[in-house]
Amino acid sequence: MPVGVDPTRASIARVYDAFLGGKDNYEIDRQVRDGVLTEAPYAAHMAVENRDFLIRSVRFLAQQTGITQYLDCGSGLPTAENTHQVVQRVNPDAEVVYIDNDPVVLAHGRALLEENDHTTLVDADIFAPEDVLDNDVVRAHIDFTEPIALLHIGTLHHYEGPADKPAEIMRRYYERLPSGSFVALSHFLDPENEHTPMARRAEEKFRHSPMGSGSFRTMEEIRSLFGDLELVEPGVIRLADWWRDGPRLTPLNEAQHCIAGGVARKP
Ligand code: SAM
Repeated sequence: MPVGVDPTRASIARVYDAFLGGKDNYEIDRQVRDGVLTEAPYAAHMAVENRDFLIRSVRFLAQQTGITQYLDCGSGLPTAENTHQVVQRVNPDAEVVYIDNDPVVLAHGRALLEENDHTTLVDADIFAPEDVLDNDVVRAHIDFTEPIALLHIGTLHHYEGPADKPAEIMRRYYERLPSGSFVALSHFLDPENEHTPMARRAEEKFRHSPMGSGSFRTMEEIRSLFGDLELVEPGVIRLADWWRDGPRLTPLNEAQHCIAGGVARKP
């Protein structure tokens, strides 16, 4: 077990791994997952939707924007298709820098995410933009005079400070990105419809669990996280509707109503 890991405290990365059916989690993490599932039986689909969006949005960025450098904030535990695998399938020389601060992610990630000379994992606080943007290793791998793809996927709902702070955090990132950069972002959604009670029950469970975070925001609040950037079509939307692979043959399930995001460009 890596130094700094307390098996009595759940971690965001390990709970997410448990929701995705991974093996890098402890009993305490599975207890958090199971507690949420009793209130929100579809919650596991939110993790799957989120991961699918990461893969689709990153593939889009790699194929269509020509961007060759990716800053993946809150990378999570290595799983089946990680950002560098998706991106480097399109461009083997694309540079991917992963940021996380979870000791288990840092230990497993060094082994699995740093697969080649163009992938790097950095220990920094993703809610402190300057910590990331001024990090020496980040700056050794990312050229801040060329467009960058910034990923904040499934991260900001774990920020537990003042409610208006995530928009300010993102603004501080955007200020430092060169023109032509893109951001992909996703967040738990309060859909303000008949699924709101499920969203709020899941939020209650997440926030009062040994993991301690998981806030749901309205569509308008999530839109504000993109600041003044130009949204790529179809804008900020439920992830299930963001450029799916084919036509929808089944209705959205409850969890698919409760996670949203989008992609935007800095002019
Ligand atoms: N982005 C991945 C995805 O969408 O599949 C993983 C999302 S996971 C839910 C959130 C990740 O953010 C976890 O790996 C967690 O350790 C990391 N994280 C949370 N707070 C952080 C912080 N302040 N600094 C760095 N990483 C953080």
